[in-house]
Amino acid sequence: MIRLAIQKSGRLSEDSLSLIRECGIGFLSSTFKLKTEATNFPLEILFLRDDDIPGYVQDGVADLGIVGQNVLVEAGLTSLQVEALGFSKCRLSLAVPRGEAYNSVADLQGKNIATSYPQLLGSYLAGQGVQAQLHTISGSVEIAPSIGLADAICDIVSSGSTLLGNGLREVETVFRSEAVLIANQQLAPEKRELLEQLQFRMQAVRRARR
Ligand code: ATP
Ligand code: ZN
Repeated sequence: MIRLAIQKSGRLSEDSLSLIRECGIGFLSSTFKLKTEATNFPLEILFLRDDDIPGYVQDGVADLGIVGQNVLVEAGLTSLQVEALGFSKCRLSLAVPRGEAYNSVADLQGKNIATSYPQLLGSYLAGQGVQAQLHTISGSVEIAPSIGLADAICDIVSSGSTLLGNGLREVETVFRSEAVLIANQQLAPEKRELLEQLQFRMQAVRRARR
């Protein structure tokens, strides 16, 4: 039996469950349960907060996980990635108040920037030779400039409508993300074999979708 952790409820949940179903794996899903067993494959599915998934897979509490690459890289656990899954595509971007002049990333020198991704943003800014004060907040990042908490923000966007609604303008892409399959690095041989079977099915699903 292999254990796969997926997001309990959020933007990754539905597509993660669809992928498992399209792999021909049946299970009873209930929104209240924390785990469920597949009916026709030696698989147990755990439902967790996405932020907890990389750590649980690293520690072996779960063998496998599906998580946004943004969360994986932010956690410093890139080495767990097995393959990209092609859904939940989004980007981590810098945005500034719409009325502010902005020419290049150098304009952020010395500014206060609110984000939930200090590692990803910090390494991006370091690569650009920009020093800024990063303020880590876990939610509602996009309101930070309007309440005087920050001069700019760095947050996940897919369409940009949330930014517009908060009077912000997207100015730089910091990181492009999609859902990825991750695995513990010391899987027993029997589990490694199950992972390979799952990957084979996932790849067939993706080919069929194209
Ligand atoms: P949790 O309660 O599990 O901590 P969360 O609020 O942190 O959930 P979600 O907003 O559900 O997370 O996003 C989960 C992941 O989905 C993100 O880390 C990102 O990879 C991806 N994602 C976020 N926003 C979008 C979007 N607008 N479009 C597509 N994918 C997105
Ligand atoms: Zn989260």
